[in-house]
Amino acid sequence: MSETAYSLDVSPAGRAAGKGCSDAPVLKERGQREVFCGLTGIVWMHRKIQDAFFLVVGSRTCAHLIQSAAGVMIFAEPRFGTAIIDERDLAGLADANEELDKCVDRLLARRPDIKMLFLVGSCPSEVIKLDLSRAAQRLSRRHMPDVRILNYSGSGIETTFTQGEDACLASLVPEAPAEAANAEPSLLVVGALADVVEDQFRRLFERLGVGPVHFLPPRRAKDLPPVGPSTRFLLAQPFLADTARALEDRGAVRLSAPFPLGAEGTTGWLKAAADAWGVPAARFEEATAPGRARAERAVERYRAALDGKRLFFFPDSQLEPPIARFLARECGVELIEVGTPFLHREHLSEELKMLPETVRLSEGQDVDRQLDRCRADRPDLTVCGLGLANPLEAEGLATKWSIELVFTPIHGYEQAGDLAELFNRPLDRRGRLKV
Ligand code: SF4
Repeated sequence: MSETAYSLDVSPAGRAAGKGCSDAPVLKERGQREVFCGLTGIVWMHRKIQDAFFLVVGSRTCAHLIQSAAGVMIFAEPRFGTAIIDERDLAGLADANEELDKCVDRLLARRPDIKMLFLVGSCPSEVIKLDLSRAAQRLSRRHMPDVRILNYSGSGIETTFTQGEDACLASLVPEAPAEAANAEPSLLVVGALADVVEDQFRRLFERLGVGPVHFLPPRRAKDLPPVGPSTRFLLAQPFLADTARALEDRGAVRLSAPFPLGAEGTTGWLKAAADAWGVPAARFEEATAPGRARAERAVERYRAALDGKRLFFFPDSQLEPPIARFLARECGVELIEVGTPFLHREHLSEELKMLPETVRLSEGQDVDRQLDRCRADRPDLTVCGLGLANPLEAEGLATKWSIELVFTPIHGYEQAGDLAELFNRPLDRRGRLKV
């Protein structure tokens, strides 16, 4: 590993100096896709908003998916469920609406702890015919102010499973209160983060003198943050295009930044807020240097094992470009292909500048063609969805399940080592198996 392979210049000038992949051609594919649907987002969202309930309006397949994906999370009372609509309900939509209303009434009567109820749409044709936004309005009239009822789609017709979170957060934006007249600037961090990570960021912003700071989603339904022209927002996740648009429609301004993954990304992300608040360079350095040093030390432990390893990303979560940037710049990984379901050039502009120019960027999927490229490239590690992992392992390729990246706290300085470790683990396991 050469020392020069890794540089930590997160100043805007430093990032602008290299254009990286900003103008690189993108291989666009529109074929068969292998991804989970947006219902999957319920698995992490129901842990985040602690008094919300997610009622999937779907088929038995949807119920099975949610049960098997989230069934391991044991609560005294579950925070998600499925109202199953089957074919015979097609006979009368009026009856289906009535049934849904009864189901919601029963649920809310039994569970007074629920303060926010999401009706989550799915893709079976029986469900598409139901107008869930009207159902949410109708039920809201009946249950407000005790319970706010919203709807969004978690349908598998969308391009990827993280769009479930985007749709959920976008449905919250119109519900957020307006800022007070002449409100002071506030910072909104957008995207579900583990509570422990949220607390770490809150402390860092306090040290920087940036605030007031709010988070979307909030931990409690009543704590929806105020939104308006004085709101500056930082995306914590790269898959929130609809939410960002909804915030901008209400006058909020996005701060352009890399995503807070790894020492470099976290520093660049905090710097974007610090610059907007005019934080002096010395104060920024004082507040961030200890965390950055801890992150660098933690990543260093895995650097020797990851350095020079060739990686191939299948498109799955939209987290691929920032994670690829972290692996290339902080761990010395060689990127072969970085696939992502959707490449949002504006939100990823700071990331693309930092991706090596040699990377093959692909957007969308044509799974057979991509498998052919992967087999020809024979990467040391392939990051992909669950459905592709087992066949590739059987062909002798080491794989990493990309869904783990949304279930594991990976953001911020204190999690940088864990993020590197996630990629080291399958390589380590394969190395041991060979011995
Ligand atoms: S929403 Fe569609 S893709 Fe998702 S589990 Fe239900 S039927 Fe399957």
